[in-house]
Amino acid sequence: MNTRALERGASSSSGWLAGQVAVITGAASGIGRAVAERYLEEGALGVVCVDADRGGLDELAREHGSRVEPVIGDVRDHAVHERAVERALASYGGLDVLVGNAGLFDFRRPLRGYTASALAATMDELFAVNLRGYLYAAMAAREALEAAGGCMIFTASVASFHAGGGGVLYTMGKHAVVGLVRQLALELAPRVRVNGVGPGGTLTGLRGTQTLGHGDRQIDADPRAFDERVSAAVPLAFAQRPRDHAGLYVLLASRDNARAVTGEIFMSDGGVAARSI
Ligand code: NAD
Repeated sequence: MNTRALERGASSSSGWLAGQVAVITGAASGIGRAVAERYLEEGALGVVCVDADRGGLDELAREHGSRVEPVIGDVRDHAVHERAVERALASYGGLDVLVGNAGLFDFRRPLRGYTASALAATMDELFAVNLRGYLYAAMAAREALEAAGGCMIFTASVASFHAGGGGVLYTMGKHAVVGLVRQLALELAPRVRVNGVGPGGTLTGLRGTQTLGHGDRQIDADPRAFDERVSAAVPLAFAQRPRDHAGLYVLLASRDNARAVTGEIFMSDGGVAARSI
């Protein structure tokens, strides 16, 4: 065990996550990156950051040195998650938190916008990233989290409970995240808590599927139009930024502050459910 590993769980650092170790998928940008940075501010010993975007991970590692372990790879590949967990154990001596977050968007394509073959191919790609990626992460992390009495947190969405936040495939997939959270919360209790955070429209570079030719299309392409659309749609009247959600990931990861919370999705969407019409 190296010297950093010896510090795991130590209370010498302050913050809600003092001495904790996390694996975060989709950490190179957007919400995942904001969570990684906030975890470090809250005293996390180290974060293993998984993403296909080498440039974003290199930047994070440059900024935070040895407290960030980049793992470059595709979340559709189980071996990538195994590598991430191995890194957590080898570099920091254990694993306390898994954040499943890497995802793609369908840019609200309605059912009538698909041929049967395009639907099948897009469904395969979107679900492989947004759902299989989460399950593979959970499979790879389960044992280490059980050993630590840790937790899992998955990024859900306003589209986990409402229509219109995505097209039919994105909305189906994000609804499925609710099932994933509830079932795993039951299966992994009492050792591991499993919860979700449900962001609303957030200004990030969230991309679409290769299958629909949206691999380079990003939802923040026109930030002003995005701000206006989301502000008009939600009671709190602003489009969220990645950092607006990070505190909920801290709260859910905190052993002291969320000890009795499992199987829940905490919404962070500007109050969509408060609007009746
Ligand atoms: P983002 O694009 O900034 O972050 C997603 C990250 O996932 C990127 O760094 C990307 O490189 C990575 N990624 C995508 N596919 C991958 C793959 N196959 N393998 C490895 N890495 C991959 O977008 P974001 O908005 O921060 O998205 C994070 C999560 O938040 C997603 O699950 C998304 O569905 C969810 N979400 C976003 C919004 C929003 O409005 N932005 C709202 C609700 C939920």
